[in-house]
Amino acid sequence: MPTVRYQNGDTVMGRWPGSNLFYEVKVLSYDPTELLYTVIYKDGTELELNEQDIKNASGFRQRSRSRSRSPSRRRSRSRSPGRTTRRSSSRTAAAVATAAITETTRRENASSSRREIRMKEVMEVRLTPHVSRPKENNGSNHEKSEHNDTNQNTEAKPEPEKNQSRYNLRRRKDDKPLDPAPQEEEVKQTVAPPTTSRAPLDFGGRIGAYLWLLFLPSWVLFVILQVNLKDPSLLNFPPPLPPLKAFWDPKALALVLLWVLFQALLYLLPVGKLSEGMPLRSGERLKYRTNGFFAIVVSGVAVAAAVHQGVDLAYIHSHFLQLATASFLVSLLLSVYLYARSRHTPTPQRALGGNSGSLMYDFFKGRELNPRIRNFDLKFFCEMRPGLIGWCVINAALAVAEMRVQGLSSPSPAMLLVNAFQLLYVVDGLWNEEAILTTMDLMHDGFGFMLAFGDLVWVPFTYTLQAYYLVEHPNALAPPALLAIVTLKLLGFYIFRKSNSQKNSFRRNPADASLANMKSIPTATGKSLLVSGWWGVVRHPNYLGDLIMALAWSLPCGFSHLLPWYYMIYFIILLVHRDARDTSDCRRKYGSAWEEYCRAVPYRIIPGVY
Ligand code: NDP
Repeated sequence: MPTVRYQNGDTVMGRWPGSNLFYEVKVLSYDPTELLYTVIYKDGTELELNEQDIKNASGFRQRSRSRSRSPSRRRSRSRSPGRTTRRSSSRTAAAVATAAITETTRRENASSSRREIRMKEVMEVRLTPHVSRPKENNGSNHEKSEHNDTNQNTEAKPEPEKNQSRYNLRRRKDDKPLDPAPQEEEVKQTVAPPTTSRAPLDFGGRIGAYLWLLFLPSWVLFVILQVNLKDPSLLNFPPPLPPLKAFWDPKALALVLLWVLFQALLYLLPVGKLSEGMPLRSGERLKYRTNGFFAIVVSGVAVAAAVHQGVDLAYIHSHFLQLATASFLVSLLLSVYLYARSRHTPTPQRALGGNSGSLMYDFFKGRELNPRIRNFDLKFFCEMRPGLIGWCVINAALAVAEMRVQGLSSPSPAMLLVNAFQLLYVVDGLWNEEAILTTMDLMHDGFGFMLAFGDLVWVPFTYTLQAYYLVEHPNALAPPALLAIVTLKLLGFYIFRKSNSQKNSFRRNPADASLANMKSIPTATGKSLLVSGWWGVVRHPNYLGDLIMALAWSLPCGFSHLLPWYYMIYFIILLVHRDARDTSDCRRKYGSAWEEYCRAVPYRIIPGVY
């Protein structure tokens, strides 16, 4: 039976995990199974500490005085990022930082007696950027990596890369040069931070960026030409190239520009909620006008009114290639503009992954995280509006074209399913628009060609492929098949929506009542990782739901050709790659807490399979 050294209510000194700093804490309880004390700091932060991390208040003062006589020893301890304690788990590490700063301020104002100065040396801390090495990060337990309100002032220096936005505790005294010739380590800490990042390059690196820049537009051209063939079999590859003039139609460009401007106008209207994004590296939280649902409703009414006035929606089908070319030009010009303006973007506002120093790679990945013209957020707008709502309008136009080509009085059941399923997907996305603020695109990726092209060309002109295919390639569906497909879609939608909402609520308010029974793993960033609910089934349940839905979108097109299955195949590749990207990001961000999550939830997307 272990002896309990400290009693509930005792005032003692508790170590801040990962450092050699002790603060006054009160013992709340003791867990004899885990051998952990729950203690509370003066600001209300609770931590679980091992007995070794707790010291008697009087004994602590004596010991700290003797230690403070050995500066070299103090420095080596306080500088070591590897000195994170595995025995103590932080519930709110960010708040512990607050406690430290509060304590620091208190100590700064304390009397000037020699004894207190000594104490101050030990207690006085400042959060400073810590250049960490990836290998160490993987192994280190619970490092602090997110900004909080308290550290904003001390964090004036821009941070060039993700790892450098982590923090290590260092006594302020250590910042002062101890002798005229600073040591190499100190010199490194005072040089201006580089404007390029050493974050690992993905998408095949510099060479890969060139290839993607060529491949993406070529692929869109290929699928458009292929789907127009009578027999769009891959055996008929390559499809004949049309003459150059077939790509260009000024009216198509005017239509695309009009559409984008119309969407921009709707976005700017002071209708709907102003939502807060996740905290940026600077600690700032941007505001976003989340009126996407309003935008799609007004767009639907506007399109219906235009049709009523005699506008022929089938134009979109007959001028698909020209519209795609015009959208490509718009996305290209936008990407050039984004790259040009990013040259003046301060480092903290740059994406961690798009600042390699290679022109093509950075142009492709995007350098600026949240490019804005005043309050107009270009990335958020492009992600959610012209392409996404355009996708539904194009699908509707293809249904009209199908009726005309097939001589039908109403769209076929297969066409109706595809239209309804994809409309539901978009409407749901816009209804829950706020949820996109916690996704990778919004939080981590810069805005460059990859997203601009993806949003304005890839989504509207390749996600409509199933509907386009059905225009000339009808596929009859028996009622049981129809029912099975609808059930599959609803299942996928349920998983997708529930899991995305769960994570979004958790990220926005971890104390949300709907999450009361959820288990989570604390990380040193102050954020936690959900380990129950959908996020305890697989590590990307939202991808699972999305993939099931993708299957339901392709099934109505039958099995005669591979082309309408393109979305499904592409989506598997996209999500597997996305998961890999996210995994390595999270491993860097959360270190051992992420490893713990992986052990608790071993499968990535499909339970028991992958
Ligand atoms: P997620 O929404 O899954 O975001 C990943 C982030 O979530 C991580 O970086 C991490 O960020 C956080 N996270 C991971 N695990 C946990 C956990 N256990 N608990 C709490 N937070 C966690 O990924 P995406 O942005 O890629 O996808 C968003 C949605 O968009 C998905 O449904 C996806 O299917 C869909 N999508 C659709 C596409 C399409 O073309 N149709 C394309 C791409 C995505 P942090 O910890 O920093 O908050």
